[in-house]
Amino acid sequence: MKIADFKVLGSEGDIYEIGFTQSPEGLKVTCSCKAGQNGMFCRHRMQLLAGDFSELQDKEKVVELKAVLNWEEFNPIKKDIIELYEVQKKIDELDRIKSKLKKSVASAIGIKK
Ligand SMILES: [Zn+2]
Repeated sequence: MKIADFKVLGSEGDIYEIGFTQSPEGLKVTCSCKAGQNGMFCRHRMQLLAGDFSELQDKEKVVELKAVLNWEEFNPIKKDIIELYEVQKKIDELDRIKSKLKKSVASAIGIKK
């Protein structure tokens, strides 16, 4: 069983730990954030798995992280991870635009929220 862990910065300034383990049951990637603890696929893992290291806190571990992401277990899903992250970023951008437009229209028609 190989084990590695990496610290990432969350959007609220919290530091989370992403862990990689291999066992007979298979590959497991965990995150210490609230969503991760609740069994949800959080953004921290998506970002790191997609090769975006911008929120990685322990920069000295980049080489180790790249080695982990090259584990053969990731090969069948590598393309999907990257596409998923690209789709998520597009959704985020559309959400920002939607929110801005809604505020603009809402305030013009007397809606406070
Ligand atoms: Zn997380």
